[in-house]
Amino acid sequence: AQRLFDPLRQLAEKFTSIQAGFTAVERITDILNEPIEIRDPEHPKSLPPARGVEGGEIRFENVFFGYKTDEYVLKDLDFTIHPGEKVALVGPTGAGKSSIIRLLCRLYETTQGRILLDGVDIRDLPQIELRRHMGVILQDGFLFAGDVKSNITLGETYSFEAIRTAAAQTNVAQFIEQLPQGYDTELRERGTNLSGGQKQLLAFARAAIRNPRILVLDEATASLDVGTEALIQEALEHLLVGRTAIIIAHRLSTIRNVDRILVLKRGQLVESGSHEELVRQEGLYASLYKLQMLGT
Ligand code: ADP
Repeated sequence: AQRLFDPLRQLAEKFTSIQAGFTAVERITDILNEPIEIRDPEHPKSLPPARGVEGGEIRFENVFFGYKTDEYVLKDLDFTIHPGEKVALVGPTGAGKSSIIRLLCRLYETTQGRILLDGVDIRDLPQIELRRHMGVILQDGFLFAGDVKSNITLGETYSFEAIRTAAAQTNVAQFIEQLPQGYDTELRERGTNLSGGQKQLLAFARAAIRNPRILVLDEATASLDVGTEALIQEALEHLLVGRTAIIIAHRLSTIRNVDRILVLKRGQLVESGSHEELVRQEGLYASLYKLQMLGT
């Protein structure tokens, strides 16, 4: 299948590597060919306790961003994603969807403006804490060479019970327990000995064990084998409960049920609303949607 979303894949590889504390510096610099210049604050803050059970609030305040100093790829983004809200980012290639995610994970700094997570400027949070609250899930879960257990924990310390619970919650425990060495079974890098669906479920378990307030999904249910489709759908619904979610959408048919769709065009937020509202507006979303309906 075509790689629809290499930038986000690269982001996630870099991201997961950092999160894991693996010595993946080589890989990281290979991928983006850029030094990482993000520094932790001198006087770090903590996030306030989660409000209720809904998930985190994300606020972009007049955010401008450019990879080069004279060229903004995000312009004056100003929006709030409410606790528990499921929001899809939509827009043509190059509109800025993955740049938004990179900023949110603080792989880059905003040029102007602020990003707040539950009211706290993400620059005031230790990176490790920010990343603990962000679960990033890709189309086909990224796996490391290593055993099943460490692919879920990413090398952090969790009890076996916590690992099993995360696996059970995401419908992958049964599969794992049928493997020759169960949770100690070695996986090949990129998981070539697993099906796409199984990798996806493992990626869900990896997110679940961290109990993040925010989930970022690269259209997680895009390319599935029929055998695991129902399991994945169910696991995903479970995973979304009590969390705020941002879904990067490629196929608009998969996001009809999100609470809100944010439509980007050349780095600007041009439309925001539910599927029905945006179809009625007959703007960019409506024309993208019509095009896809014709194409499928
Ligand atoms: P989308 O995810 O919507 O396809 P991106 O956020 O990847 O859009 O890209 C937004 C703009 O930023 C595009 O013009 C793209 O070419 C540019 N861009 C993306 N990544 C980089 C990078 N690492 N360096 C320079 N420019 C980039």
